[in-house]
Amino acid sequence: MKIAVFPGDGIGGEVVDEALRVLERVGGKYGLKIETEKALVGGGAYDEYGVPLPEKSLSLAKQADAVLLGAVGGPKWEPLDYEFRPERALLGLRSELDLFANLRPAKIYPALADSSSLKREVVEGIDIMVVRELVGGIYFGRPKGVEKLADGTERGVNTLVYTTPEIERIARIAFEIAMKRGKRVCSVDKANVLECTELWRRVVTKSHAGYPEVELSHMYVDNCAMQLVRYPGQFDVIVTTNMFGDILSDISAMLTGSIGMLPSASLGATSGMYEPVHGSAPDIAGQDKANPIATILSVAMMLHYTLDAAEAARDIEQAVQKVLDAGYRTPDIAADGVKPVGTKQMGQLIVDAIET
Ligand code: NAD
Repeated sequence: MKIAVFPGDGIGGEVVDEALRVLERVGGKYGLKIETEKALVGGGAYDEYGVPLPEKSLSLAKQADAVLLGAVGGPKWEPLDYEFRPERALLGLRSELDLFANLRPAKIYPALADSSSLKREVVEGIDIMVVRELVGGIYFGRPKGVEKLADGTERGVNTLVYTTPEIERIARIAFEIAMKRGKRVCSVDKANVLECTELWRRVVTKSHAGYPEVELSHMYVDNCAMQLVRYPGQFDVIVTTNMFGDILSDISAMLTGSIGMLPSASLGATSGMYEPVHGSAPDIAGQDKANPIATILSVAMMLHYTLDAAEAARDIEQAVQKVLDAGYRTPDIAADGVKPVGTKQMGQLIVDAIET
C-alpha cells in the first residue's frame, strides 16, 4: 500500500510525525507492507512552487492508495488571492480525487467525559459516525451568485441539487459502515419542506433494500440538531447532505471535548484522504504543545477504511485509551491532577502502548 503524506503547515508536521511513528509500529506488528512518500501542499507548497497544490503532489495523491494530511494555512498566506491560499489545496484534493463521503466520528473517551460542554451522563458512551455528502448539494449547485436588480437591491441565490446516483453512493457508504458498527443508520433531511431532500429520503429508503440487517430511520434536520444535544446516545450512523452534515458533524464532534482529538476521513470510489479536523494552529506551532491524537486516530481510520486492517486500527484506538486512562494529557485536554506531556511524548506513549 502506498500512502501520500502531506504534513502541510503549522502544527501539521509535528502531528503527522507522531502519527507516522504509530503507523510504523502497527505496520511492523501486523506485517503490513506500507510505503510512505512525503510532499508539499498548502502554504509551504506555495512558497516553494507558487501554488498550494503542485502537480507533483497531486499526481502522488492520485497514485497512492490513501492520503494522510496534517493541516494547511497560516497568517503568512492570508493576504494571498483566494486561488493561491493554502486551503485551496484541500478543495483541489477533494475534487480531483472525487472524495464524495466525509466521515467524522464522535466518540467519547471515558477519561475525557468531563471535557465535554454537556453533562457526563448525557455524553457517556457516545459513539457516532456522521457521514456527510461532500461534493454536491447546495455548496455546488447552480445557479449560484448575487445579482443586482433594477431597483438597486440585490438577489442572492444558491441551488440545492442532488441526483439519484449521488444519493445512492453516499447511502451505500453509510450502510456499509453501519454493517461494521451498530447496524443503525439515521438519514437526516428536511423532506417536509425541501423537495430535493424528499428525493433524498426516497432514494435512501430504496438503497436500504440491499442491507436488510441495518435498521434505517429518518429524521428532520432541526429535530436531529436537538436530539444530538438531548440524547446523543441514540445515534450510530447519521447520513446527510453536504450542508446539514457540515453543521451536524460540528455539533456531534464538540460533544466529545477538544478539537485536538477529532479525526476524519474523506472517501471516494478508489481513494481516501485522512486528516485531523483541526487546522494548523499557528498559535502553538513549533512549541511541542499540539495534541497528535486526532492525526493518530486518522491513521486508525485509514487502516480501517482503506487498508482493511481493522485489528491494527483497534489496536491504535486502545493504545490511545490506555494513555488517556493513565492520566497523560497535552495542554488542550489538561485538567487538575493529570500528567502534562508535549506532542512528542504523547506520540511516544501511544507507540509504547501498542504492545508488540
Ligand atoms: P485551528 O484548528 O488551527 O485552531 C483553533 C484553536 O484550536 C487554536 O487555539 C489552536 O491552538 C487549537 N488547536 C487546534 N488543533 C490543536 C491540536 N492538535 N492540539 C491542541 N490545540 C489545537 O483553527 P484556526 O485557528 O481557525 O485556523 C488556523 C489556520 O488553519 C487557518 O489558516 C485556517 O484556514 C487553517 N485551517 C486548516 C484546516 C485544515 O487544514 N483542514 C482546518 C481548519 C483551519
